Amino acid sequence: MEREQMLQLTGFQPVGDVGRGLLLGFPAEAEVLSGFMKDGLTLRLYGDAATGKQIKAMNKQLKDDARLNGKVSIAADAETPGVAGVVTISAAGEGDINSLYRNAIDAVEKLFREEGINPVPNCPICEQTGGDTLVHFDGPLCVVHMTCLRNWKNAREEEVALKAHNGGHMRGFIGGFIGGVVGAAPAFIALMLTNYFVGLLFALIPLGTFYGWKLAGGKLDRITTIFVVLYSLVVGVFVEIIDSWLVLREALPAFNPSLWYTIQVYLNPAHRWHDLFFRHLLMALGFTLLGIFISWSMIRKTDKHELADNQAAFDEAIPLSQLTRDR
Ligand SMILES: [Zn+2]
Repeated sequence: MEREQMLQLTGFQPVGDVGRGLLLGFPAEAEVLSGFMKDGLTLRLYGDAATGKQIKAMNKQLKDDARLNGKVSIAADAETPGVAGVVTISAAGEGDINSLYRNAIDAVEKLFREEGINPVPNCPICEQTGGDTLVHFDGPLCVVHMTCLRNWKNAREEEVALKAHNGGHMRGFIGGFIGGVVGAAPAFIALMLTNYFVGLLFALIPLGTFYGWKLAGGKLDRITTIFVVLYSLVVGVFVEIIDSWLVLREALPAFNPSLWYTIQVYLNPAHRWHDLFFRHLLMALGFTLLGIFISWSMIRKTDKHELADNQAAFDEAIPLSQLTRDR
């Protein structure tokens, strides 16, 4: 199927490779199926997310629907927030795609009604009904008021401009410093209580650092990313060293080893505990790095990126008046 045919079938407005519009009252995105031996389209409807059980029940009914020839299915989308379901219509083989499309929409309408799956009625910005614009806002495709969207975008731009005036990075450093310590607490407590290495808890350190920076109102830019990465690694190492120090103190009460003595164990390959300590240190570093990797898309996002994303969403917004069909 070509993009033009998909737009014609759905009556959606083109935005890049996809089409966006309203379908059965749901904000929806249509995309041409591409890939080896694939033909047809997907319709991503935004609203109350269907549960796994509902998806299963609906698929059974779609399969049993003789009009659909087994060419229509529905799936959940765990990766995109606020998706009611993704309907796939296969256009492969013989048959009239127009009537298949109509029948598929009729079937989905009936199933959604039966399962109580609805679009979100309110504008997510002011929580009132009567939105007039289709836009990707904070993840999902939704219907908002144009005035709300414009005010929100202007307010975000002002906030970012204000951050630069209010000390720029300074608040960020302080917030990030505290956030990293808070983020390290679970890993530290787990080490203390269970004397057991719960590696994934180290992944909370970069998250804590980033959120601390953000909540404190620090300017988000490259410096943020560099700080979060370096500081998280320092905190990760520190948590491990302090834990080792406490373990040593307990093991050698008469000797009462100092923190400096503990650090020397790490530095001295001849010490009998060096290898064990060092292995733990590498694990702590590894898991902190894993945390940085997991949260990378978040911690690399700067104010500039956010404003550019907001602008792009704003530019792609579609007035509902341009959408003449809803099925
Ligand atoms: Zn609104």
